Amino acid sequence: MTSASSALRPTPRAGALEIEAYVPGKSKAPAGVKLHKLSSNETPLGPSPSAIEAYRAAAGHLEVYPDGSATVLREAIARAHGLDPARIVCGAGSDELLSLLAYAYLEPGDEGLFCEHGFLVYRIAILAAGGVPVAAPETNLTTDVDALLARVTPKTRIVYLANPNNPTGTYLPFDEVKRLHAGLPGNALLVLDAAYAEYVRANDYAAGIELVSGAGNVVMTRTFSKVFGLASLRIGWLYGPEAVVDVLNRVRGPFNLSGPAIAAGAAAVADRGHIDRAVEHNARWLPEIASAVRALGLEVTPSVANFVLIHFPATPGRTAAEADAFLTARGIILRAVGAYGLPNALRMTVGSDEANAATLEALKAFMERSDG
Ligand SMILES: *Cc1c(COP(=O)(O)O)cnc(C)c1O
Repeated sequence: MTSASSALRPTPRAGALEIEAYVPGKSKAPAGVKLHKLSSNETPLGPSPSAIEAYRAAAGHLEVYPDGSATVLREAIARAHGLDPARIVCGAGSDELLSLLAYAYLEPGDEGLFCEHGFLVYRIAILAAGGVPVAAPETNLTTDVDALLARVTPKTRIVYLANPNNPTGTYLPFDEVKRLHAGLPGNALLVLDAAYAEYVRANDYAAGIELVSGAGNVVMTRTFSKVFGLASLRIGWLYGPEAVVDVLNRVRGPFNLSGPAIAAGAAAVADRGHIDRAVEHNARWLPEIASAVRALGLEVTPSVANFVLIHFPATPGRTAAEADAFLTARGIILRAVGAYGLPNALRMTVGSDEANAATLEALKAFMERSDG
């Protein structure tokens, strides 16, 4: 080998090295302590028993390639939501779809827009695709449509909106989503990430199906990782205009969902009763957690999702970092959200009755302790 060739090395896109790798929620407790993992917005109810059964049945033919079109899954989703299956694309989690959209619609230097405390995957997807991430400020930890529209430039090609947003738990009423869409140029793709849609019980909320149906530049992404309890299987889907669906079907991996994922997802989406129970459990706990935490003197951002953002004071002995350490030592794992620009907050997923009660008790002990 010549010295010239050995001096060469593979160079990634510039944006790749600007990415701070996504750090998932912690999942370990100290030895001997019962673990309550409330750091990744997983459901305490687990998946539908029929999904587990379908998964087990699929284990009988793992040597066969899956259906690259995920037909039974798309048809089951279409039935549940009254959609055309031809306008649905499935992904290995909605994360895959969020990334594929950036790869497909951003040329190097194009801008991707999202909110200040928006889901971290957007920034990663935009940078990985060679785009320029642009963050718009929020108002009261809520999407600010005017702030987003003020940052639209001729280079804006994609706008990501998590509704409800993670990690804030706040949402944008559908009228506001429509106002955002109306203010975007036709060549900017609006991505409505409705990962928590099933949990929302607000009359002025909509996941976005109506907007997708009537526009050429809106897509809605959904996931099986949250209310369906199938995070480990990696299943997401997107409903979009025919042209966008066609592009995604060209750029995606030909077998991007595994056979067991397709089978389990199709079974899960048909089990309406299981979803209702999960939503019911969440609706019961959400106000209870918020009021119990507020009673301790801590601020809670109003949430419509399956988690709450708890704000801690800067007072030594009572900070978010100290609360995190205190809770972790007791086996309670919340999510630190410093990477989202929220260093004084922790995000708590609504867990089982036992996990929620243990967390509220531990938070009380933390706020009442005299040492700092
Ligand atoms: C959890 C979550 C997702 C889901 O990601 P998957 O890849 O489908 O597991 C998408 N968007 C937001 C905002 C989320 O919080």
